[in-house]
Amino acid sequence: MASPSTLFAPASGFGRAAIAVIRLTGPVCEPLLAALAGACPPPRRLSLRTLRDPQTGEVLDRALVAWLPGPATYTGEDMAELHLHGGLAVRAGVIRALCAFPGCRAAEPGAFTRRAVFNGRLGLTEAEGIGDLIDAETEAQRRQALRQLDGALGRQVAAWRARAIACLAGAEAALDFSDEGDVDEAGLDAALIGKAADLRDEISAALRDDRRGERLREGFHVVLAGPPNAGKSTLLNALSRREAAIVSDVPGTTRDAIEVRCDLGGLPVILVDTAGLRETEDCVEAEGIRRTRARMASADLVLHLSAADAPASADPGPPGLAVTTKADLAEPGGPGLSVSALTGQGLDRLLDAIEAAARGALGGGDALITRERHRAALARCVESLDRVVAGAPLPELVAEDLRLAVRALGEVGGHVGVEEMLDRLFSGFCIGK
Ligand code: GDP
Repeated sequence: MASPSTLFAPASGFGRAAIAVIRLTGPVCEPLLAALAGACPPPRRLSLRTLRDPQTGEVLDRALVAWLPGPATYTGEDMAELHLHGGLAVRAGVIRALCAFPGCRAAEPGAFTRRAVFNGRLGLTEAEGIGDLIDAETEAQRRQALRQLDGALGRQVAAWRARAIACLAGAEAALDFSDEGDVDEAGLDAALIGKAADLRDEISAALRDDRRGERLREGFHVVLAGPPNAGKSTLLNALSRREAAIVSDVPGTTRDAIEVRCDLGGLPVILVDTAGLRETEDCVEAEGIRRTRARMASADLVLHLSAADAPASADPGPPGLAVTTKADLAEPGGPGLSVSALTGQGLDRLLDAIEAAARGALGGGDALITRERHRAALARCVESLDRVVAGAPLPELVAEDLRLAVRALGEVGGHVGVEEMLDRLFSGFCIGK
């Protein structure tokens, strides 16, 4: 097999900074470091070196370099790090030199983690945890990502898979020895079916989690709905303390949804401002209203806004929280919470109510399942085990269903179909990870 290329990627962010870190992984790290820095530095220590372009001998930077021989590295391969001065020209010069070095090329997003998974340094669910950790915007998301990175899901699924494999082995043994009189086939089957039933029940229980893990990754969606001029955009700005939505007193300005991501008590909350709901001839606005209805239907919480100085229209929307806006304009008496974006009245109580709703939906214990991919595979496993427990007409079919169950569990942990899953997973990763 041809040896893999050596990949390099900026590990720190883009732009002017004090230090820019470039990471490398692959077989030519050692000769490349020798060519750049004069000699390969001692392993696992940062050494100060003058870096020169191997082709022209031109000085590129004076930088800290590290040589990390594999396999005890992130990717399992030889690795190197260059801690450069963070100027754009310095980085461009070094990257040009790296590109010109035989066997070395720029990494695509997630390439380092992909190699880590391939080389058995990291399980697939742990790799997903790393992706989630990089994307985490709130404390609860960070905690969930760290749990997955720590192997909470990987270990549980591996344990389930071991039990499914034990059942499969039992079913296959029963098949092999079914002609021989000394095996009590019926007894063996009953024990095996019992074990499959236990496993199915445990996985089913884990699936009954209200999608807490996925929802924590995606955020708790709060849709601000109500007639035009109810004060939706103004309230969104006041709540998020940002000028995110256009505020205007011409009815019907917000034609598409505007989203603001907030951190409420460590929970990711996405406030969505929508087009005002009213009868309209304008086809663009009508499309906005159609989207609003779709947003409301898929929202975790809908705030039904009506202005204190305008009669509340009875919109048959999904259940949610009634909010009377512009409380500074009229006597209190409207439905639900009274708020004024102008004076700030009631905003804290509204934020508390949103946070409580988010905590109710996303809190409630640590979720094991964090992606639709996990859920779909575990659901398939449960279906196969259902057939096993229901009692297939032929023992061969029991074995086949158990094989499908093992396979579905293997997909979660990356034992099966790993290439395709890696492509999907790493397309969302950042370069350098
Ligand atoms: P939307 O169409 O529901 O998004 O409503 P906007 O947020 O664009 O607000 C419509 C009008 O109401 C604007 O002129 C706002 O300045 C005004 N407005 C919004 N909130 C308040 C408030 O709390 N008090 C008062 N007095 N006016 C408000």
